[in-house]
Amino acid sequence: SLTAGIIAVQGNVSEHARAIERAGSGHGETVDVVEIRTAGHIPECDVLVIPGGESTTISRLIHQEGIASEIVTHVERGKPLLATCAGLIVAARDVQDERVENLGVVDVTVKRNAFGRQKDSFETRLDIRGMEESFPAVFIRAPLVTDVGDGVEVLASHDDDIVAVRDPPVIGTVFHPELTGASQIHDLAFFDAVPE
Ligand code: GLN
Repeated sequence: SLTAGIIAVQGNVSEHARAIERAGSGHGETVDVVEIRTAGHIPECDVLVIPGGESTTISRLIHQEGIASEIVTHVERGKPLLATCAGLIVAARDVQDERVENLGVVDVTVKRNAFGRQKDSFETRLDIRGMEESFPAVFIRAPLVTDVGDGVEVLASHDDDIVAVRDPPVIGTVFHPELTGASQIHDLAFFDAVPE
């Protein structure tokens, strides 16, 4: 079985848990979900999620609780991380907002609350690299990716904006992939990437 840690200091946790379980069952794999609120549990996790929510709050709490350095070590060990929306802001190399203490584990620059200025939130179908069917993506006050490093693969764009990236072992999305009952992003992040 796979042990999946979801950073649960703030933000949407249970929808991610269900999405990982659905992805796992497609691979005949049982998933043990661990909600991470304190230090000491991440070393036992095979994969991690930093969910959406409020990036200033999430980053403050993970530093306070000693979780931040454990996430960095997890990624340095080459273990998969899915970072979505506020989670991508927290994980990013550079955030154009000094209230976020970002981790620098995915080589992108992001700007908060800058995507889809006309509409705070919307749902659309996206073509994602390597996926046969389009993916139902929910955008909620999403960040804008303003720059990506050389090693970063763009997995999806919406109009001309980058909305999903892979910087192994991290997958980042500016949208919420967990809210529609789809699980292909979790599949890509955790089951295609986990070595046999
Ligand atoms: N706007 C939020 C932030 O900057 C992110 C929104 C979300 O995660 N849905 O933290």
